[in-house]
Amino acid sequence: MHTKTLIELAQGLRSKEFSSVELTQTFLDRIQKHQHLNAYITVTEAVALHNAQAADTRLANGTAGLLTGIPIAQKDIFCTLDVKTTCGSKMLDNFSAPYNATVVEKFNQAGAVMLGKLNMDEFAMGSSNETSYYGAVKNPWNINSVPGGSSGGSAAAVAARLAVCATGTDTGGSIRQPAALCGITGLKPTYGRVSRYGMIAYASSLDQGGPMARSAEEAAIMLQTMAGFDEKDSTSVDLPVPDYCAGLNNSLAGLKIGLPKEFFGEGLNSDVAATLETAINEYRKLGAEIKEISMPNLKLAIPAYYVIAPAECSANLSRFDGVRYGYRCANPVDLADLYTRSRGEGFGKEVKRRILMGTYALSTGYYDAYYLKAQKIRRLISEDFKQALTEVDVIMGPVTPTTAFGIGEKMSNPIEMYLSDIYTIAINLAGVPALSIPAGFVAGMPVGLQIIGNYFAEDRLLNIAHQYQQVTDWHLHTPKGFE
Ligand code: GLN
Repeated sequence: MHTKTLIELAQGLRSKEFSSVELTQTFLDRIQKHQHLNAYITVTEAVALHNAQAADTRLANGTAGLLTGIPIAQKDIFCTLDVKTTCGSKMLDNFSAPYNATVVEKFNQAGAVMLGKLNMDEFAMGSSNETSYYGAVKNPWNINSVPGGSSGGSAAAVAARLAVCATGTDTGGSIRQPAALCGITGLKPTYGRVSRYGMIAYASSLDQGGPMARSAEEAAIMLQTMAGFDEKDSTSVDLPVPDYCAGLNNSLAGLKIGLPKEFFGEGLNSDVAATLETAINEYRKLGAEIKEISMPNLKLAIPAYYVIAPAECSANLSRFDGVRYGYRCANPVDLADLYTRSRGEGFGKEVKRRILMGTYALSTGYYDAYYLKAQKIRRLISEDFKQALTEVDVIMGPVTPTTAFGIGEKMSNPIEMYLSDIYTIAINLAGVPALSIPAGFVAGMPVGLQIIGNYFAEDRLLNIAHQYQQVTDWHLHTPKGFE
Protein backbone atom coordinates (compact mmCIF):
# COMPACT_ATOMS: atom_id res chain seq x y z
CA MET A 1 0.00 0.00 0.00
CA HIS A 2 2.75 2.45 0.97
CA THR A 3 4.24 2.43 -2.54
CA LYS A 4 1.08 3.78 -4.14
CA THR A 5 0.69 7.43 -5.13
CA LEU A 6 -1.78 9.71 -3.39
CA ILE A 7 -4.21 9.41 -6.31
CA GLU A 8 -3.94 5.60 -6.31
CA LEU A 9 -4.54 5.56 -2.57
CA ALA A 10 -7.58 7.81 -2.93
CA GLN A 11 -8.91 5.43 -5.57
CA GLY A 12 -8.16 2.37 -3.42
CA LEU A 13 -10.10 3.92 -0.55
CA ARG A 14 -13.07 4.60 -2.83
CA SER A 15 -13.11 1.15 -4.37
CA LYS A 16 -12.85 -0.33 -0.85
CA GLU A 17 -9.63 -2.15 -1.75
CA PHE A 18 -8.54 -1.08 1.74
CA SER A 19 -9.91 1.19 4.45
CA SER A 20 -8.30 4.29 5.88
CA VAL A 21 -7.88 2.43 9.18
CA GLU A 22 -5.89 -0.30 7.39
CA LEU A 23 -3.89 2.25 5.46
CA THR A 24 -3.15 4.28 8.59
CA GLN A 25 -2.09 1.14 10.47
CA THR A 26 0.30 0.24 7.63
CA PHE A 27 2.00 3.61 7.95
CA LEU A 28 2.07 3.46 11.76
CA ASP A 29 3.79 0.06 11.51
CA ARG A 30 6.35 1.48 9.10
CA ILE A 31 7.07 4.41 11.40
CA GLN A 32 7.66 1.94 14.23
CA LYS A 33 9.88 -0.28 12.08
CA HIS A 34 12.05 2.60 10.81
CA GLN A 35 12.34 4.55 14.05
CA HIS A 36 16.10 4.74 13.59
CA LEU A 37 15.59 7.47 10.97
CA ASN A 38 14.32 9.70 13.81
CA ALA A 39 11.92 11.42 11.41
CA TYR A 40 9.11 11.80 13.96
CA ILE A 41 9.19 13.65 17.27
CA THR A 42 5.66 12.59 18.21
CA VAL A 43 3.51 9.80 16.77
CA THR A 44 -0.20 10.27 17.40
CA GLU A 45 -1.26 6.67 16.96
CA ALA A 46 -4.57 6.62 18.83
CA VAL A 47 -5.87 9.90 17.37
CA ALA A 48 -4.76 8.82 13.90
CA LEU A 49 -6.72 5.57 14.08
CA HIS A 50 -9.73 7.39 15.47
CA ASN A 51 -9.59 9.94 12.64
CA ALA A 52 -9.08 7.20 10.08
CA GLN A 53 -12.33 5.66 11.24
CA ALA A 54 -14.08 9.00 10.81
CA ALA A 55 -12.55 9.24 7.33
CA ASP A 56 -13.92 5.81 6.46
CA THR A 57 -17.38 7.05 7.42
CA ARG A 58 -16.97 10.05 5.12
CA LEU A 59 -15.78 7.78 2.32
CA ALA A 60 -18.83 5.61 2.82
CA ASN A 61 -21.33 8.48 2.86
CA GLY A 62 -19.87 10.29 -0.13
CA THR A 63 -18.57 13.43 1.59
CA ALA A 64 -14.89 12.57 1.04
CA GLY A 65 -12.34 14.62 -0.88
CA LEU A 66 -9.04 13.48 -2.38
CA LEU A 67 -7.19 13.78 0.94
CA THR A 68 -9.85 12.10 3.07
CA GLY A 69 -8.34 9.08 4.81
CA ILE A 70 -4.80 9.76 3.53
CA PRO A 71 -2.07 9.48 6.20
CA ILE A 72 0.02 12.66 6.32
CA ALA A 73 2.33 14.27 8.86
CA GLN A 74 2.94 17.81 10.06
CA LYS A 75 6.27 19.50 10.62
CA ASP A 76 6.51 20.12 14.36
CA ILE A 77 6.46 23.89 13.78
CA PHE A 78 2.68 23.84 13.18
CA CYS A 79 0.62 24.13 16.35
CA THR A 80 -1.65 21.18 17.00
CA LEU A 81 -4.44 21.26 19.55
CA ASP A 82 -3.70 18.96 22.50
CA VAL A 83 -0.72 17.40 20.71
CA LYS A 84 2.81 18.41 21.70
CA THR A 85 4.37 21.10 19.43
CA THR A 86 8.10 21.40 20.10
CA CYS A 87 9.59 23.26 17.13
CA GLY A 88 12.56 20.93 17.68
CA SER A 89 13.45 22.74 20.92
CA LYS A 90 13.85 21.87 24.57
CA MET A 91 12.16 25.25 25.13
CA LEU A 92 8.85 23.77 23.92
CA ASP A 93 9.34 20.17 25.00
CA ASN A 94 6.43 20.55 27.42
CA PHE A 95 4.23 22.67 25.14
CA SER A 96 0.86 21.56 23.92
CA ALA A 97 -0.88 24.20 21.83
CA PRO A 98 -4.38 25.41 22.74
CA TYR A 99 -5.36 25.64 19.06
CA ASN A 100 -4.58 24.27 15.60
CA ALA A 101 -2.56 26.17 13.01
CA THR A 102 -4.73 27.13 10.02
CA VAL A 103 -2.81 24.68 7.84
CA VAL A 104 -3.47 21.85 10.31
CA GLU A 105 -7.13 22.84 10.56
CA LYS A 106 -7.48 22.76 6.78
CA PHE A 107 -5.98 19.27 6.50
CA ASN A 108 -8.23 18.11 9.32
CA GLN A 109 -11.28 19.49 7.56
CA ALA A 110 -10.21 17.75 4.36
CA GLY A 111 -10.21 14.51 6.37
CA ALA A 112 -6.48 13.84 6.09
CA VAL A 113 -5.22 11.60 8.89
CA MET A 114 -2.32 13.08 10.86
CA LEU A 115 0.19 10.38 11.86
CA GLY A 116 2.29 12.69 13.99
CA LYS A 117 4.72 15.57 14.19
CA LEU A 118 7.97 15.62 12.27
CA ASN A 119 11.49 16.34 13.42
CA MET A 120 13.15 19.60 12.38
CA ASP A 121 16.06 21.89 13.15
CA GLU A 122 15.48 23.86 16.35
CA PHE A 123 13.11 26.75 15.52
CA ALA A 124 13.78 25.93 11.84
CA MET A 125 17.34 27.23 12.10
CA GLY A 126 19.63 24.91 10.22
CA SER A 127 20.26 23.11 6.97
CA SER A 128 20.87 19.59 8.19
CA ASN A 129 18.35 18.78 10.89
CA GLU A 130 21.25 18.42 13.32
CA THR A 131 20.26 21.36 15.55
CA SER A 132 17.12 19.54 16.74
CA TYR A 133 16.89 18.95 20.50
CA TYR A 134 15.55 15.50 19.53
CA GLY A 135 18.66 14.51 17.62
CA ALA A 136 19.65 14.33 13.98
CA VAL A 137 17.38 12.84 11.33
CA LYS A 138 19.02 10.33 8.99
CA ASN A 139 18.79 10.47 5.23
CA PRO A 140 17.00 7.29 4.02
CA TRP A 141 19.33 7.16 0.98
CA ASN A 142 22.35 6.87 3.26
CA ILE A 143 21.88 6.88 7.00
CA ASN A 144 25.29 8.48 7.54
CA SER A 145 24.17 11.56 5.61
CA VAL A 146 21.94 14.44 6.65
CA PRO A 147 18.44 14.74 5.15
CA GLY A 148 18.84 18.53 4.88
CA GLY A 149 16.94 21.02 6.96
CA SER A 150 15.14 22.48 8.54
CA SER A 151 12.24 20.29 7.28
CA GLY A 152 14.50 17.20 7.44
CA GLY A 153 11.96 15.01 9.23
CA SER A 154 9.34 15.82 6.58
CA ALA A 155 11.67 15.02 3.68
CA ALA A 156 12.97 11.80 5.24
CA ALA A 157 9.46 10.63 6.14
CA VAL A 158 8.10 11.15 2.62
CA ALA A 159 11.18 9.61 0.95
CA ALA A 160 11.06 6.56 3.24
CA ARG A 161 7.26 6.29 2.89
CA LEU A 162 6.59 6.94 6.56
CA ALA A 163 3.83 9.34 5.43
CA VAL A 164 2.19 9.80 2.06
CA CYS A 165 3.06 13.49 2.15
CA ALA A 166 4.02 16.11 4.69
CA THR A 167 4.07 19.82 5.39
CA GLY A 168 7.24 21.87 5.58
CA THR A 169 8.19 25.49 6.07
CA ASP A 170 10.78 27.48 4.17
CA THR A 171 12.49 30.63 5.43
CA GLY A 172 15.65 30.32 3.38
CA GLY A 173 15.36 26.91 1.73
CA SER A 174 13.94 24.58 4.36
CA ILE A 175 11.42 22.92 2.06
CA ARG A 176 13.48 22.83 -1.14
CA GLN A 177 16.88 21.87 0.25
CA PRO A 178 15.72 18.77 2.21
CA ALA A 179 13.40 17.84 -0.68
CA ALA A 180 16.42 17.90 -2.98
CA LEU A 181 18.67 15.94 -0.62
CA CYS A 182 16.01 13.25 -0.04
CA GLY A 183 14.78 12.97 -3.64
CA ILE A 184 11.24 14.31 -3.24
CA THR A 185 9.20 17.26 -4.54
CA GLY A 186 8.89 20.36 -2.35
CA LEU A 187 7.23 23.69 -3.05
CA LYS A 188 7.77 27.01 -1.31
CA PRO A 189 4.74 29.09 -2.30
CA THR A 190 4.68 32.86 -2.81
CA TYR A 191 4.94 34.71 0.49
CA GLY A 192 1.37 35.19 1.68
CA ARG A 193 -0.18 32.31 -0.26
CA VAL A 194 -0.37 29.96 2.75
CA SER A 195 -1.45 31.16 6.18
CA ARG A 196 1.24 31.44 8.83
CA TYR A 197 -1.30 31.43 11.68
CA GLY A 198 -0.16 28.87 14.23
CA MET A 199 3.13 28.29 12.44
CA ILE A 200 5.78 29.14 15.00
CA ALA A 201 7.61 32.23 13.73
CA TYR A 202 11.30 32.23 12.88
CA ALA A 203 11.70 35.20 10.49
CA SER A 204 8.17 36.39 9.80
CA SER A 205 8.85 38.28 6.56
CA LEU A 206 10.43 35.15 5.01
CA ASP A 207 8.61 32.16 6.55
CA GLN A 208 6.21 30.28 4.31
CA GLY A 209 4.60 26.86 4.68
CA GLY A 210 4.28 24.48 1.76
CA PRO A 211 3.78 20.91 0.55
CA MET A 212 6.36 18.11 0.47
CA ALA A 213 5.38 15.04 -1.53
CA ARG A 214 6.71 12.56 -4.00
CA SER A 215 5.34 14.23 -7.12
CA ALA A 216 4.22 17.63 -8.35
CA GLU A 217 0.70 16.28 -8.74
CA GLU A 218 0.59 15.33 -5.05
CA ALA A 219 2.05 18.72 -4.11
CA ALA A 220 -0.71 20.37 -6.17
CA ILE A 221 -3.37 18.45 -4.26
CA MET A 222 -1.82 19.47 -0.95
CA LEU A 223 -1.45 23.12 -1.94
CA GLN A 224 -5.11 23.20 -2.94
CA THR A 225 -5.94 22.48 0.68
CA MET A 226 -3.23 24.68 2.24
CA ALA A 227 -3.55 27.88 0.19
CA GLY A 228 -5.92 30.77 0.70
CA PHE A 229 -6.66 33.95 2.59
CA ASP A 230 -6.81 33.74 6.35
CA GLU A 231 -8.10 36.67 8.35
CA LYS A 232 -5.98 35.43 11.27
CA ASP A 233 -2.77 36.14 9.31
CA SER A 234 -2.49 39.80 8.30
CA THR A 235 0.16 38.95 5.69
CA SER A 236 -1.91 36.28 3.96
CA VAL A 237 -3.04 37.45 0.57
CA ASP A 238 -6.68 37.81 -0.38
CA LEU A 239 -6.52 36.39 -3.89
CA PRO A 240 -8.63 33.56 -5.31
CA VAL A 241 -6.98 30.12 -5.16
CA PRO A 242 -6.72 28.63 -8.64
CA ASP A 243 -7.33 24.96 -9.39
CA TYR A 244 -3.76 23.66 -9.09
CA CYS A 245 -4.49 20.35 -10.81
CA ALA A 246 -6.36 21.80 -13.78
CA GLY A 247 -3.29 22.99 -15.68
CA LEU A 248 -0.88 20.16 -14.87
CA ASN A 249 -1.03 18.79 -18.41
CA ASN A 250 -0.57 22.08 -20.23
CA SER A 251 2.05 21.98 -22.95
CA LEU A 252 5.48 23.48 -22.34
CA ALA A 253 5.99 24.43 -25.98
CA GLY A 254 7.50 27.89 -26.17
CA LEU A 255 8.24 28.06 -22.42
CA LYS A 256 11.15 30.44 -21.81
CA ILE A 257 13.56 29.15 -19.20
CA GLY A 258 16.30 31.40 -17.82
CA LEU A 259 19.52 30.01 -16.39
CA PRO A 260 21.27 32.63 -14.25
CA LYS A 261 24.98 32.35 -14.90
CA GLU A 262 25.56 33.16 -11.22
CA PHE A 263 23.92 29.80 -10.35
CA PHE A 264 26.19 27.67 -12.49
CA GLY A 265 29.62 29.04 -11.65
CA GLU A 266 32.21 28.19 -9.06
CA GLY A 267 31.00 26.28 -6.02
CA LEU A 268 28.58 24.00 -7.84
CA ASN A 269 29.74 20.40 -7.80
CA SER A 270 30.49 19.30 -11.37
CA ASP A 271 28.51 16.04 -11.15
CA VAL A 272 25.49 17.95 -9.84
CA ALA A 273 25.93 20.45 -12.70
CA ALA A 274 26.04 17.64 -15.26
CA THR A 275 22.88 16.08 -13.80
CA LEU A 276 21.07 19.41 -14.03
CA GLU A 277 22.21 19.86 -17.61
CA THR A 278 20.57 16.56 -18.53
CA ALA A 279 17.38 17.65 -16.79
CA ILE A 280 17.34 20.98 -18.59
CA ASN A 281 17.84 19.15 -21.87
CA GLU A 282 14.71 17.19 -21.09
CA TYR A 283 12.88 20.53 -21.00
CA ARG A 284 14.35 21.41 -24.37
CA LYS A 285 12.79 18.20 -25.73
CA LEU A 286 9.48 19.26 -24.20
CA GLY A 287 9.59 22.40 -26.32
CA ALA A 288 11.16 24.95 -23.99
CA GLU A 289 13.65 27.61 -25.03
CA ILE A 290 16.69 28.05 -22.82
CA LYS A 291 18.34 31.38 -22.29
CA GLU A 292 21.28 32.47 -20.15
CA ILE A 293 20.45 35.37 -17.88
CA SER A 294 22.29 37.35 -15.24
CA MET A 295 21.15 38.27 -11.74
CA PRO A 296 24.08 40.27 -10.40
CA ASN A 297 22.79 40.74 -6.86
CA LEU A 298 22.29 37.06 -6.05
CA LYS A 299 25.72 36.93 -4.47
CA LEU A 300 24.54 39.30 -1.75
CA ALA A 301 21.71 37.02 -0.64
CA ILE A 302 23.51 35.07 2.09
CA PRO A 303 24.97 38.09 3.92
CA ALA A 304 21.66 39.98 3.69
CA TYR A 305 19.69 36.95 4.89
CA TYR A 306 22.00 36.38 7.86
CA VAL A 307 21.24 39.91 9.05
CA ILE A 308 17.49 39.97 8.36
CA ALA A 309 16.57 36.45 9.54
CA PRO A 310 18.46 36.69 12.86
CA ALA A 311 17.10 40.22 13.41
CA GLU A 312 13.53 38.99 13.05
CA CYS A 313 14.21 35.86 15.07
CA SER A 314 15.68 37.86 17.94
CA ALA A 315 12.35 39.69 18.21
CA ASN A 316 10.15 36.62 17.61
CA LEU A 317 11.94 34.47 20.15
CA SER A 318 11.77 37.05 22.93
CA ARG A 319 8.39 35.60 23.88
CA PHE A 320 10.08 32.46 25.22
CA ASP A 321 10.94 33.87 28.60
CA GLY A 322 10.17 31.09 31.05
CA VAL A 323 7.07 32.97 32.25
CA ARG A 324 4.26 32.48 29.77
CA TYR A 325 4.77 28.94 28.51
CA GLY A 326 7.54 26.57 27.59
CA TYR A 327 10.66 25.72 29.56
CA ARG A 328 11.27 27.28 32.96
CA CYS A 329 14.51 26.77 34.88
CA ALA A 330 14.42 25.18 38.33
CA ASN A 331 14.49 27.36 41.48
CA PRO A 332 15.13 30.83 40.06
CA VAL A 333 16.44 33.23 42.70
CA ASP A 334 14.90 36.34 41.10
CA LEU A 335 13.24 37.50 37.86
CA ALA A 336 16.50 38.15 36.01
CA ASP A 337 17.73 34.69 36.95
CA LEU A 338 14.43 33.20 35.74
CA TYR A 339 14.77 34.86 32.32
CA THR A 340 18.46 34.20 31.91
CA ARG A 341 18.55 30.60 32.95
CA SER A 342 15.26 29.63 31.26
CA ARG A 343 16.54 30.97 27.94
CA GLY A 344 20.09 29.81 28.54
CA GLU A 345 19.00 26.26 29.32
CA GLY A 346 16.01 26.09 26.95
CA PHE A 347 17.64 27.22 23.69
CA GLY A 348 20.34 25.35 21.80
CA LYS A 349 23.60 26.75 20.50
CA GLU A 350 22.50 27.73 16.97
CA VAL A 351 19.38 29.50 18.22
CA LYS A 352 21.47 31.49 20.70
CA ARG A 353 23.94 32.38 17.96
CA ARG A 354 21.08 33.76 15.83
CA ILE A 355 19.55 35.73 18.71
CA LEU A 356 22.95 37.28 19.46
CA MET A 357 23.58 38.17 15.82
CA GLY A 358 20.09 39.62 15.43
CA THR A 359 20.16 41.64 18.63
CA TYR A 360 23.53 43.05 17.64
CA ALA A 361 22.35 44.00 14.15
CA LEU A 362 19.34 45.80 15.57
CA SER A 363 21.15 47.68 18.32
CA THR A 364 21.56 51.47 18.26
CA GLY A 365 24.48 52.47 16.11
CA TYR A 366 24.51 49.23 14.15
CA TYR A 367 20.94 49.29 12.85
CA ASP A 368 21.77 51.53 9.89
CA ALA A 369 25.02 49.76 9.12
CA TYR A 370 23.57 46.26 9.10
CA TYR A 371 19.79 45.98 9.17
CA LEU A 372 18.98 48.93 6.92
CA LYS A 373 21.73 47.94 4.49
CA ALA A 374 20.40 44.38 4.37
CA GLN A 375 16.91 45.67 3.62
CA LYS A 376 18.28 47.69 0.70
CA ILE A 377 20.02 44.61 -0.64
CA ARG A 378 16.77 42.72 -0.28
CA ARG A 379 15.13 45.25 -2.57
CA LEU A 380 17.92 44.88 -5.15
CA ILE A 381 17.50 41.11 -5.12
CA SER A 382 13.73 41.42 -5.63
CA GLU A 383 14.39 43.75 -8.57
CA ASP A 384 16.74 41.13 -10.07
CA PHE A 385 13.92 38.59 -9.99
CA LYS A 386 11.35 41.01 -11.36
CA GLN A 387 13.67 41.97 -14.21
CA ALA A 388 14.62 38.36 -15.02
CA LEU A 389 10.96 37.32 -15.02
CA THR A 390 10.17 39.89 -17.70
CA GLU A 391 12.75 38.20 -19.95
CA VAL A 392 11.84 34.58 -19.19
CA ASP A 393 8.84 32.67 -17.78
CA VAL A 394 10.74 30.72 -15.17
CA ILE A 395 14.26 30.45 -13.79
CA MET A 396 15.97 27.12 -13.27
CA GLY A 397 19.03 26.23 -11.27
CA PRO A 398 20.47 23.99 -8.59
CA VAL A 399 18.91 23.65 -5.15
CA THR A 400 22.12 22.73 -3.38
CA PRO A 401 25.81 22.88 -4.34
CA THR A 402 26.36 19.16 -3.55
CA THR A 403 24.33 16.09 -2.67
CA ALA A 404 23.67 15.34 1.03
CA PHE A 405 26.75 15.80 3.22
CA GLY A 406 27.75 13.59 6.14
CA ILE A 407 26.19 13.86 9.58
CA GLY A 408 28.59 15.92 11.71
CA GLU A 409 30.52 17.23 8.71
CA LYS A 410 29.49 20.88 8.90
CA MET A 411 28.33 21.31 12.49
CA SER A 412 31.57 22.89 13.67
CA ASN A 413 31.60 25.42 10.82
CA PRO A 414 28.44 27.56 10.75
CA ILE A 415 29.58 29.58 7.71
CA GLU A 416 29.98 26.44 5.64
CA MET A 417 26.56 25.28 6.82
CA TYR A 418 25.06 28.65 5.82
CA LEU A 419 26.53 28.28 2.34
CA SER A 420 24.51 25.14 1.67
CA ASP A 421 21.52 27.47 1.11
CA ILE A 422 23.28 29.65 -1.42
CA TYR A 423 20.80 28.85 -4.20
CA THR A 424 17.60 28.97 -2.17
CA ILE A 425 17.83 32.02 0.09
CA ALA A 426 17.41 34.77 -2.53
CA ILE A 427 13.98 33.38 -3.41
CA ASN A 428 12.69 34.00 0.12
CA LEU A 429 14.14 37.51 0.14
CA ALA A 430 12.19 38.23 -3.06
CA GLY A 431 9.09 36.34 -1.90
CA VAL A 432 8.57 34.49 -5.18
CA PRO A 433 7.54 30.80 -5.33
CA ALA A 434 10.00 28.01 -6.15
CA LEU A 435 10.02 24.25 -6.11
CA SER A 436 12.54 21.45 -6.06
CA ILE A 437 12.04 18.26 -8.04
CA PRO A 438 14.12 15.09 -8.17
CA ALA A 439 16.37 15.25 -11.25
CA GLY A 440 18.71 12.29 -10.91
CA PHE A 441 21.41 10.84 -8.70
CA VAL A 442 25.11 11.34 -8.11
CA ALA A 443 26.81 8.34 -6.51
CA GLY A 444 23.45 7.04 -5.33
CA MET A 445 22.36 10.32 -3.73
CA PRO A 446 19.48 12.45 -5.06
CA VAL A 447 19.92 15.75 -6.88
CA GLY A 448 17.20 18.41 -7.03
CA LEU A 449 16.36 20.86 -9.80
CA GLN A 450 15.01 24.22 -8.68
CA ILE A 451 12.29 25.99 -10.67
CA ILE A 452 11.50 29.58 -9.72
CA GLY A 453 8.48 31.50 -10.97
CA ASN A 454 6.71 34.80 -10.71
CA TYR A 455 4.52 35.81 -7.76
CA PHE A 456 1.50 33.48 -7.46
CA ALA A 457 2.61 31.33 -10.42
CA GLU A 458 2.45 28.14 -8.35
CA ASP A 459 0.10 26.58 -10.91
CA ARG A 460 2.62 27.14 -13.70
CA LEU A 461 5.50 25.77 -11.59
CA LEU A 462 3.53 22.65 -10.76
CA ASN A 463 2.64 22.22 -14.44
CA ILE A 464 6.31 22.50 -15.44
CA ALA A 465 7.35 20.02 -12.75
CA HIS A 466 4.55 17.61 -13.62
CA GLN A 467 5.45 17.56 -17.31
CA TYR A 468 9.02 16.59 -16.43
CA GLN A 469 7.70 13.85 -14.13
CA GLN A 470 5.68 12.46 -17.03
CA VAL A 471 8.86 11.76 -18.99
CA THR A 472 11.23 10.84 -16.14
CA ASP A 473 10.88 8.58 -13.12
CA TRP A 474 13.40 10.05 -10.63
CA HIS A 475 10.55 10.93 -8.28
CA LEU A 476 9.44 7.29 -8.15
CA HIS A 477 12.72 5.81 -6.90
CA THR A 478 12.64 4.43 -3.37
CA PRO A 479 15.65 4.21 -1.07
CA LYS A 480 16.90 0.69 -0.42
CA GLY A 481 15.40 -0.91 2.63
CA PHE A 482 12.22 1.19 2.42
CA GLU A 483 10.56 -0.45 -0.60
N1 GLN B 1 19.14 27.09 6.61
C1 GLN B 1 18.52 28.37 6.71
C2 GLN B 1 18.63 28.89 8.11
O1 GLN B 1 19.17 28.21 8.94
C3 GLN B 1 17.09 28.31 6.26
C4 GLN B 1 16.23 27.61 7.25
C5 GLN B 1 14.78 27.67 6.89
O2 GLN B 1 14.41 27.83 5.71
N2 GLN B 1 13.93 27.55 7.89
O3 GLN B 1 18.20 29.96 8.41
